[in-house]
Amino acid sequence: MNSGLLINRAVAGGLDVIGDRWSLLILRDAFLGRRRFEEIRAHTGASRATLTRRLAALVDADVLYRKAYGTGSRVEYRLTATGQELFGASLLAWQWESRWDHGEQLPARLRHSVCGSPLHPRAQCRACAEEVTLDSVDWNLPAAGLEPQFEELRSIGGQRRVRAEQATGSDRDLATVSNLIGDRWTLLILIAAFFGVRRYDDYARHLSIASNILTQRLRFLVEAEVLERIRYQQNPPRYEYRLAPRGRDLYPLVMVMRQWAEQRLPPDQRPLALRHKGCGKPLVIDVVCGECGQKPWPLDVTRSETR
Ligand SMILES: [Zn+2]
Ligand SMILES: [Zn+2]
Repeated sequence: MNSGLLINRAVAGGLDVIGDRWSLLILRDAFLGRRRFEEIRAHTGASRATLTRRLAALVDADVLYRKAYGTGSRVEYRLTATGQELFGASLLAWQWESRWDHGEQLPARLRHSVCGSPLHPRAQCRACAEEVTLDSVDWNLPAAGLEPQFEELRSIGGQRRVRAEQATGSDRDLATVSNLIGDRWTLLILIAAFFGVRRYDDYARHLSIASNILTQRLRFLVEAEVLERIRYQQNPPRYEYRLAPRGRDLYPLVMVMRQWAEQRLPPDQRPLALRHKGCGKPLVIDVVCGECGQKPWPLDVTRSETR
């Protein structure tokens, strides 16, 4: 049943699998060819218990599969075809982190061997090849409004445990973005902001989030310069939380993750299609190499280790 929702429970479930700090770091490692438990553990910094649990979840979700190697019972983890489809999301996460966290002093360290250029991934509309940004997509909210959307989004919250564990691995790439996207509350607040929510009370109401958690996450997002805190009333002072440029730039990544979750559903269970304003067609996002326009595959991307 297509219920007129932009995000439904199944999509929320899919986001829950990949929208996790450890899943993002495990995927990064998988795309870099790291396949073995100890190797992934060293690079992500996840505890054994956490890594075991997240690898099992990714195998369940058909993102990774186990393959025996050597003699005995050792296994390594490889990307399935479904998992390979997440490469675009991983590249966008990488780009975001390079752009906003390392600044200009970091030249692109990923190279697209097909065209020989540094890899600058670009999220574009499949129909017209225009770049996809927050302003270029029509959310076209159904008459029912936001409430049913958030009802579904809250179901993410019910599935996830609170983790205090931080990524402390030897590979710091994606450390910032995995804390933003990989925390269920910050992800929900971000999606709410994409829907146009700005005020504290509205975040609290839509997300059914405890006020201490909301206050803490909003402060974190303001400190990370993803949201801006703007006073909209003098007396008593009241504030709005609006997307800053860093936050708006997370939009293509979140949308590509949503699309991945959606494409795994049977057509009749998919939420409402979004529309690309530029061409008016239903939105399908492709992540391509900004230089040659081809879709990059993990084997076509090389990485330079020098900073
Ligand atoms: Zn278009
Ligand atoms: Zn290229």
